[in-house]
Amino acid sequence: MKTIKGLIAAGLAETEAVRRIRRDEVMTRVYNEHPELKDIDSRIIDIRKDRLIAVIDHDERLEKRYEIEEENLLSQRERLIRDNGIDPEFDMEKPICAKCNDTGFAKGKGGTPIVCSCKQAELEECYENCGLGDYTSFTMKNYRKDYLGDPEKRSKIMEQFLKVMLGKEDTSDKPLWLYSGAPQTGKTYLAVCITKTAISLGKSAFYTKCENLSTLEEDTVDAIKRIDFLVIDDFADDVTLHDDIGTVLNSVLEVRSAAGLCTVLVSALPAAELIKGCDMRVSGKLGRAGKIA
Ligand SMILES: [Zn+2]
Repeated sequence: MKTIKGLIAAGLAETEAVRRIRRDEVMTRVYNEHPELKDIDSRIIDIRKDRLIAVIDHDERLEKRYEIEEENLLSQRERLIRDNGIDPEFDMEKPICAKCNDTGFAKGKGGTPIVCSCKQAELEECYENCGLGDYTSFTMKNYRKDYLGDPEKRSKIMEQFLKVMLGKEDTSDKPLWLYSGAPQTGKTYLAVCITKTAISLGKSAFYTKCENLSTLEEDTVDAIKRIDFLVIDDFADDVTLHDDIGTVLNSVLEVRSAAGLCTVLVSALPAAELIKGCDMRVSGKLGRAGKIA
């Protein structure tokens, strides 16, 4: 499973190459337009080499001579650059994206680093890899707090869900959380958006429907045991009793809880009903889960 940090890191070598190519192009153009500058620069390089040899030979007299020559060349160079209006940084590599300095992360609200807009393609690829491919149109911006009335409660749930994801809602002793709400109240929308937010903050995250747990590839199951944030949607007691789902779920939750990694189960059923009807191994864990409500 490719995380957003992994995807951004994978593109770094290419970004560096592009930066170097761009610098070389600018240097070639400037040197073609001002051959005297090229000449000064190559003389500076030669003198620095000679000076290094003089240093190694402890020839102070020669070293001093080269130092003065280099200073003269540098001031000639400065004058030439100034008089011709040449960019003084023409020979330096410049970031392709000034917003994130090519790190892939820019400052978001309150200075929190978020994935830069120049990494939109990586973000989309990551969403696709993290179970979010079917939800391209779901965005936090479009989350309607007034949907079905009671905007205050919906805002509260959203904030709590966000805090749980950020680890700000005392998740230390409660890595497992349950978000129960009536059917058709936008739970999936919220769960998807919060998973996307986690990814845009650089976290490794995954979204899956509970019924799909038994269809995941073995290495994906291994990966979701270790990622920062996991959301299991459409969680229901009877689902855990079929197709090894109880076994997969139990082992995923076991490893994640031991590592203190946050998991949120999203369900249309109330906690008491889930605890009563679930695979026994899972209901034991559910009893200790935090509640988003
Ligand atoms: Zn950027």
